[in-house]
Amino acid sequence: KIVILRLGHRPQRDKRITTHVGLTARAFGAEGMLLASDDQKLADNIADVSNRFGGNFYVRNNVSWKAEIKKWKEDGGKVCHLSMYGVNLPDAVPEVSECDKLMIVVGAEKVPFEIYEMADWNVAVGNQPHSEVAAVAVTLDRIAGTDPLRSEFEGGELTIIPEKCGKNVIDRRE
Ligand code: SAM
Repeated sequence: KIVILRLGHRPQRDKRITTHVGLTARAFGAEGMLLASDDQKLADNIADVSNRFGGNFYVRNNVSWKAEIKKWKEDGGKVCHLSMYGVNLPDAVPEVSECDKLMIVVGAEKVPFEIYEMADWNVAVGNQPHSEVAAVAVTLDRIAGTDPLRSEFEGGELTIIPEKCGKNVIDRRE
């Protein structure tokens, strides 16, 4: 069970990147995303993709990050905060991948220092600046027990059939 906690989303500026954090989290095996800002439209857009392409990914809008982290830890979960400053992911994988209730925290702008203190692990996906989308994808891929790219999403309206050239989509709405 893995959830993503998205901090610092600014509805105007970060619309695309937060959408991509959510879609990437879903595609790479997280069960949901908690959004620590108010952007119901964004949450609805991701839910819409989930409905069309299957699975049960959820977005919870406008959560309090502090309350969510506290509750998660009270319920026995662990928290992995991603930033370029942490322990490099290859060194953290043996421990983090053992966790069966994991919250992965990503920021936008500067993350409150309290997050570094509340996290069980502060992990870097390489100690170079890049993107929260890349950080989520590589982390989920490296800690996965089975290949997330092989996972199937049940119950969607649309299923893509891989093709060497061109697009093949089964559309159950027709
Ligand atoms: N300037 C901000 C700071 O100093 O905290 C970070 C901005 S960065 C574009 C936004 C988010 O991407 C970070 O909060 C972090 O979650 C993620 N990120 C960027 N580079 C990363 C890296 N090398 N490893 C892990 N996460 C990274």
